[in-house]
Amino acid sequence: MDAFISRKRKRLSDDREYVSTAPKSCQTDPAADDEPTDFKLAVLASLHPYCDEDTLLEALLLSEGSVNLASQALKHSSTAISPRKKIATGIGYQSSLSAFTTSKETQSGSSGSTKKVLTKKGQTLHLYAPEDIETHTPCSIIHNFLPSHEADALLLELLEEAPTFQRETFQLFGNTVQSPHTMCFYANSWDEAEVQKTEYVYNGNYIKDIRQTLPEMRKVGSKVQAAVNEEIQRRIKTYYAEAKKLKFQSPRPWVPNAAFVNCYDGGAESVGYHSDQLTYLGPRAVIGSLSLGVAREFRVRKVVSRDSSGEKGDVSRADTEGQVSIHLPHNSLLVMHAEMQEEWKHSIAPAQAIDPHPIAKSKRINITYRCYKESLHPRLTPKCKCGVPTVLRCVQKRTENRGRYMWMCHTNYTPGKEGCSFFQWAEFDDDGEPPWAGDPMKENKDSIKEQSI
Ligand SMILES: [Zn+2]
Repeated sequence: MDAFISRKRKRLSDDREYVSTAPKSCQTDPAADDEPTDFKLAVLASLHPYCDEDTLLEALLLSEGSVNLASQALKHSSTAISPRKKIATGIGYQSSLSAFTTSKETQSGSSGSTKKVLTKKGQTLHLYAPEDIETHTPCSIIHNFLPSHEADALLLELLEEAPTFQRETFQLFGNTVQSPHTMCFYANSWDEAEVQKTEYVYNGNYIKDIRQTLPEMRKVGSKVQAAVNEEIQRRIKTYYAEAKKLKFQSPRPWVPNAAFVNCYDGGAESVGYHSDQLTYLGPRAVIGSLSLGVAREFRVRKVVSRDSSGEKGDVSRADTEGQVSIHLPHNSLLVMHAEMQEEWKHSIAPAQAIDPHPIAKSKRINITYRCYKESLHPRLTPKCKCGVPTVLRCVQKRTENRGRYMWMCHTNYTPGKEGCSFFQWAEFDDDGEPPWAGDPMKENKDSIKEQSI
């Protein structure tokens, strides 16, 4: 019912944002009257995924072009089925939005995926169909990815582990904050888990609890690997300029060698807008994300660059393109493609209500498969003056250096902490390899330089 609530975001830091639900009185007309009809139809379709195009158009005409009135009319029409009921049944409840976009722009547009922009400032566009998701976001989705008995076996395996998952803690304005969901890290073998525990640094710390991949997870891992590699090639061919991989994207096969498993127990558990750390994945990373159990909303929005004359504190600049909500049902594989982490942020939105899953009850389990690069092992990457391996970040907002990578002291992103202010631009070749790659035994001897961003 309230599928289309505009939400106000409060930015607390560059990396962590929390979404607060605006009171109902703050609902805005999803499409002002001067919007083109195809945009209005797309908005209506996202609100009423069970209605066909003719019904939507008729409602819009009868409401003289007002999306709000049309939506009200559709809500009260006697034939309407509760959208939530439809969502609960899973797949195929919304026909493609492509019918509403008058002219699909050429698929070989500039740096990738941006087609007709259907999102508007402060609004949420809900997408269900795979063709819509891959056209309007840097993600692609495969519904019913595993045979259902395999998905259930994997879910049961992880549900048994989930009660021992931990909340991630991080620093925010000098306070220790806990993530609003639990998680656990898995490596392919005990040896790799040991290396992860003792050598890899996350948020300036070592992770003590790193487990070995479980049997069902391992079985599924090879299927995820094959599917993700296929999706990467299809993405390149269909959406990237001249059907070529992006600059800095790895040409090598994607091999998942680490997995974060997240558990969201109940609608209140969530994760705020962020992009995933690239430190060990390198630039233009691809991540495969398998969803099990309760269906939740995965929200994405493009990072809008702050032009040099803009005011830093102006939050309204951050979301001129609005956000897209991708619905992730049980047993769906979402691929976050190479353009995702540098240019977009993602979140799992809190839900006012969830449909319990027959096996998982109130839980959503999510495995994110990642491909760590040997050349970005922390023994090779620059260390800051604290002696800690640095974190790799990409300039997202400042226009002048947008897309450049940098190595920084972890504490630089810990508000309230001094840190050592270490900063060094990160260089990569076209395939995303650092200068020391190819000589993996050699320590990084780049001179430590302090520069301003
Ligand atoms: Zn430091």
